[in-house]
Amino acid sequence: MGQSNNNLKSNYRKSREKDLENQFLEFISPYHVSTNPFELESASADLTSLPAYHYKFKKKYLASYVIRPANMNELSLAIKKCRDLNIPVTIRAAGTSCFSSATPSMGGVIIDIRRVNKVHEINQEKMTVKVGSGISWLNLIEKLSDYGLEPKTFPTSFKTSCVGGFIATPGKAGIGVLKYGTMESTIISVDLVKPDGTVIKVSRDSDQEISLNDLVGTYGIFGAIGNVELSITTLKTSLEIIGYGFNSIEQAINFYLLIKEDLPNKPLFLSISERNFEKYSHIAFPKEEWIVWAVYYDKPELTSKSISDVKNQASKLNCVEIEGTYLKEKWRDISDAEVSIGSSTRNLIFQEYWISDKRLKKFMEIYVKKVKNYKFPTASYAISGEKGWTRVKIFGLTDIDRTIEFFAVKAFLHDLTVQAFNQEDRLYTIGIVNTFYLLKYKSEEVKKWKNLKDKLDPKHLFNSYRLTKARMKFWRVSLLFNMAKLLYKIFKIKRSK
Ligand SMILES: Cc1cc2nc3c(=O)[nH]c(=O)nc-3n(C[C@H](O)[C@H](O)[C@H](O)COP(=O)(O)OP(=O)(O)OC[C@H]3O[C@@H](n4cnc5c(N)ncnc54)[C@H](O)[C@@H]3O)c2cc1C
Repeated sequence: MGQSNNNLKSNYRKSREKDLENQFLEFISPYHVSTNPFELESASADLTSLPAYHYKFKKKYLASYVIRPANMNELSLAIKKCRDLNIPVTIRAAGTSCFSSATPSMGGVIIDIRRVNKVHEINQEKMTVKVGSGISWLNLIEKLSDYGLEPKTFPTSFKTSCVGGFIATPGKAGIGVLKYGTMESTIISVDLVKPDGTVIKVSRDSDQEISLNDLVGTYGIFGAIGNVELSITTLKTSLEIIGYGFNSIEQAINFYLLIKEDLPNKPLFLSISERNFEKYSHIAFPKEEWIVWAVYYDKPELTSKSISDVKNQASKLNCVEIEGTYLKEKWRDISDAEVSIGSSTRNLIFQEYWISDKRLKKFMEIYVKKVKNYKFPTASYAISGEKGWTRVKIFGLTDIDRTIEFFAVKAFLHDLTVQAFNQEDRLYTIGIVNTFYLLKYKSEEVKKWKNLKDKLDPKHLFNSYRLTKARMKFWRVSLLFNMAKLLYKIFKIKRSK
């Protein structure tokens, strides 16, 4: 009886989905309605993992369709169709955000937003641009540069990642953030397709059920960001890079904070990088344990003044200036560094922490201390976020075949996550995989999101299992990782770093 009920349900789902395919084909060309298994597989995964990797966090990890609407009209029609048939939807841009952020949690339809990518208007008087949110940052940068303009803020993954993806993930750390402000501060308005398919304009001063603040960093749970109007800036004429090597994390952080807080002109990009991170992306790398480097981008007089201010401060410290050619290479390859580290291991595991500058030293010192308990290779780097905040990324390199070590790496990153929340900080990227931490540590925020989610998407079919609901429980994960640490100790797992 149970079996035949299941068959009935599955047949009903199949017929509903077939129905949906026909309905999509009424307004999207067949080439952009895909059921190709390879495409479904790759669109249901992300940079670090196969679709099935985090299966316990999801009900169904493979989508049945990938569709690619070309404009607001197609986008809203597609979303409305899915809502009418109760089909789960996942919005996906370039898929670079990891943590299963842009992958399905209940199967259904993936809406690949990258064809919603038109540049609608460049207004040189108001210094604004209106674009489809699926445009990649690189394409936007190139388009604006024809007019002597550029975006204010974008992620270091700009070669592939899209405008909407940076809005829906926090958009609080990256290129330009320290100088111009977060992604949110550059948004003038968003045309949002709500989970029922209706379209509303959300702007800074609009007074409706959804605010801009609700849309930023909420992983698309309140709808698809269609068109976006952003404030932009002018191209500058002088770019210079400066960096210093330090042998202690304390000295490195002091210098980083001095550049960030005390010097009058803010760099376009500012980062601290561990030697272990450098060695995965460069053949020859500096010998100091930590590098602090800054990119200044202004008019020539201002850039040189900033560089001489930094040099002046560094001359009072025990540090070594990093060769200019090395720094140029780092800046040229800024998009690739994280990807390079991925090629050095079979399973790259990482976590991104959002740490207040006041507590950065404490957090990094704990990392340095904890690492000593393990034999697997680790690496870290940090990039400046908005004023007062830093995104710290910590990697553990392992291989799923080394089961005990694999879980020990996860346990190590989990302990640092608990540390971050306990010291009033948090994780940077949440996606599907980190939502259970929010349920445990940020219940008030979760409640607020859930109230709005219940109103807009009562069945939680749109970008589900992000921020408001998780299948994985904190206690289960903690138990698993504590066991992993114990086994790691008992079996004295060996490894040459
Ligand atoms: C090498 C590398 C460097 C990176 N550097 C940075 C960095 O400097 N700063 C930083 O913050 N992150 C960084 N990231 C993480 C990631 O690239 C960013 O979060 C990026 O903005 C994600 O964009 P995406 O187009 O890939 O979005 P996706 O990964 O496709 O989507 C991210 C989330 O946004 C949702 N979403 C996407 N588009 C829309 C839309 N139009 N409407 C509604 N929801 C939507 C998705 O459902 C998903 O939940 C980096 C990643 C890599 C691999």
